Amino acid sequence: MTDNKIPVQGFLSQNSNNWDSAKSTHFETGRRVHQDKVHGLRERVQARRKSLNDSLEGEVRDFLINEGELHTYDDLTKVNPVTPTTVLKCLQARYSARVFYTHAGCTLVALNPFHPVPHLYSLDVMREYHTAPKPQEFKPHIFIVAEAAYRNVQGQVEPVDQSLVVSGESGAGKTWTSRCLMKYYATVAASSQDSQDTVERIEKRVLDSNPVMEAFGNACTLRNNNSSRFGKYIQLQLNRSQLLVGASVQTYLLEKTRVAFQAANERNFHIFYQMMKGAMEQQRQEWKMPRAQKFNWLPNAEKILEEDCFAETLEAMVHLGIDSEKQAQIFRILAGILHLGNVAFSPPTDESQPCDLEEASKAFLQTTADLLRIPVEELQSCLRVRALKAGRQSTLLKPCSQAECSVRQECLAKVIYAQLFDWLVSFINKSMCADNSRWCNFIGLLDVYGFECFQKNNLEQLCINYANEKLQQHFVGHYLKAQQEEYVSEGLEWSFVQYQDNQGCLDLIEGSPSSIFSLLNEVCRLNRASDAKQFMVRLEKELCSSDRVSWDKFSKQPHFIVSHYAGKVVYQIEGMMEKNKDPVPPELIRLLQQSEDPLMHSMFADAHAEEETTRGHTKVVTVVSKFKNSLESLMKILHSTTPHYTRCIKPNPDCRPLTFKKEEVITQLEACGIVETINISAAGFPIRIPYASFLKRYGLITHSGTLAQLTSQNGYESGDKNSLGSAVMDVLRVVLKGHTPDPQLHSDSTTHSSL
Ligand code: ADP
Ligand code: MG
Repeated sequence: MTDNKIPVQGFLSQNSNNWDSAKSTHFETGRRVHQDKVHGLRERVQARRKSLNDSLEGEVRDFLINEGELHTYDDLTKVNPVTPTTVLKCLQARYSARVFYTHAGCTLVALNPFHPVPHLYSLDVMREYHTAPKPQEFKPHIFIVAEAAYRNVQGQVEPVDQSLVVSGESGAGKTWTSRCLMKYYATVAASSQDSQDTVERIEKRVLDSNPVMEAFGNACTLRNNNSSRFGKYIQLQLNRSQLLVGASVQTYLLEKTRVAFQAANERNFHIFYQMMKGAMEQQRQEWKMPRAQKFNWLPNAEKILEEDCFAETLEAMVHLGIDSEKQAQIFRILAGILHLGNVAFSPPTDESQPCDLEEASKAFLQTTADLLRIPVEELQSCLRVRALKAGRQSTLLKPCSQAECSVRQECLAKVIYAQLFDWLVSFINKSMCADNSRWCNFIGLLDVYGFECFQKNNLEQLCINYANEKLQQHFVGHYLKAQQEEYVSEGLEWSFVQYQDNQGCLDLIEGSPSSIFSLLNEVCRLNRASDAKQFMVRLEKELCSSDRVSWDKFSKQPHFIVSHYAGKVVYQIEGMMEKNKDPVPPELIRLLQQSEDPLMHSMFADAHAEEETTRGHTKVVTVVSKFKNSLESLMKILHSTTPHYTRCIKPNPDCRPLTFKKEEVITQLEACGIVETINISAAGFPIRIPYASFLKRYGLITHSGTLAQLTSQNGYESGDKNSLGSAVMDVLRVVLKGHTPDPQLHSDSTTHSSL
């Protein structure tokens, strides 16, 4: 092992002073892996499924573990054998015993209690973990991960940035965990040495960014009442004394379609309901929002959620420096969007004319224009008439069909909301970000959408699942591949554990020359007729060499099926090209640029009105290109940090407190490859001591002078790693065979007792 490695890893760190237990467990697990047959992926998946079915059908399996004590297994690497069934049973036993965190070697598994557990996260508990000499000896907790990252920043040689990657499906607890981590750092990294005022302010601002961003970016969905509809990477900036001095946040892929379309039993973004429920009388008048007013884009308003707390959002906005004038501008714009949603178009009597507007719609349109501070005639014409550039000078005006009018109406709402969200994020960044000279390291918290597989999947799911593939690759690369490669380079005996490499899937999605993204971009740029069937034929032809894509012969819908690491997902092609182009009619942008509202004006000041020609050509930067670029920057940052992974698990689909559904959990365990992770962590060498220290400490137990010679001849730095590795193995063999070391050699009593 190289010198800059952290000396202890995995649960054995708890017993690092107890060599007996370390050696026996290590070799037991090592043997176990040697005995493992190396199956092909398919066989392994099938075997896993079978063992699950066996257990679910109630067949009794032989456990080497004591089932009665399953809840006491703090680390899943201790479970023997490691199978999906044993892991599942262990997690279930712990959940029943109300133990929500379990180590899985190098990752932490967090089961969502769906029920407040305040004593687990109190300030006292935070301080306990923070001040403990060895917090890893405490019960598994998210604070162990938090503290490990915090201590790791200092590094062994030089400071190292850290990232905490929190993954899991919707409702599993990612956002909750990220918030909890932010609170932890805001508490333990606070200092009374700095000016109390500044410190308090910055911590408060960092924490207050949560309610504001959640109000604007979260919504109630079927899976989670407070589902984040955007991805988030927040960097907590630390100064040389490791105090929190600022933060910056980057967001990914806001689901802006939600502003104008909500699936059955789902809701729009929380902020609209907060306004509707929490507005004061004067605001209601200004926004034309009497309590009884119904808005088309505000479904399920009768649902009472704790997230609908306007006062909390307002307070957080004030702390972030969003003054009452800016707030008024923001809410006016939001009210304008709601009114826009109530405008309805009907087909014209004369087809050469634009669509008709009923009286009620005219009133909503007028209010929209008033609130957005734009001229109503132009708003009306932008929604109903299309302007096409014909040649250099002239413009052709074409009335829109009823459907086209609705598309424009939704487009207007989406573009305003997305721009407002971006403005808010950049405002929050300005408010939280420390001056470059004030901070030197960061701890990054990543909370992104988990893997998604719905009845209907389209471009949004493709992007989200692609991001998850990238993160999985990062995880595999970091822990599994790196660990195995390191063993080989160190000349250690090692039996390879097969891991699922998802490069094939990434090549299929983003590779070159031909991939789903490249082909999708090609049709969007050429603006060929967006025929879904033709595109499917093209995909079939161009991507036939990939074993990660397939087609269901019996399906009538144009589609493609991607075999993700977490399972197969059927993507519908219909609408995908349009979503990728995400076109905004230029006249809409020009209209918004005319707004007399200063916020609206500044939001669109730099927006580009992309002219559409009569041939339909536009210079589009597609959604997938933008997403791919932002994800690549994120991956670069992640690669430059030391990662810590937390896998959040949703124990039941209905968010019911303390309810554990095996079928639900096993799918998630499979999706994140937890069994492979445990196997490799269990089979890996859990204690890492630099050669030099190891030989210095234990070398004297061999009878021969081999080790001493090796060390003196080669030295650690220039040494032949393989010979040193074998020498270390020799020492271990001597120990494990129970050889009594030569008593004369034991001058160091500490070494003696630890052996
Ligand atoms: P995700 O971000 O993964 O979609 P959330 O973090 O929003 O999921 O969690 C969903 C809900 O689960 C939260 O609103 C909260 O009620 C509950 N929850 C999550 N983690 C915990 C926890 N550790 N303790 C108590 N409740 C939790
Ligand atoms: Mg979330």
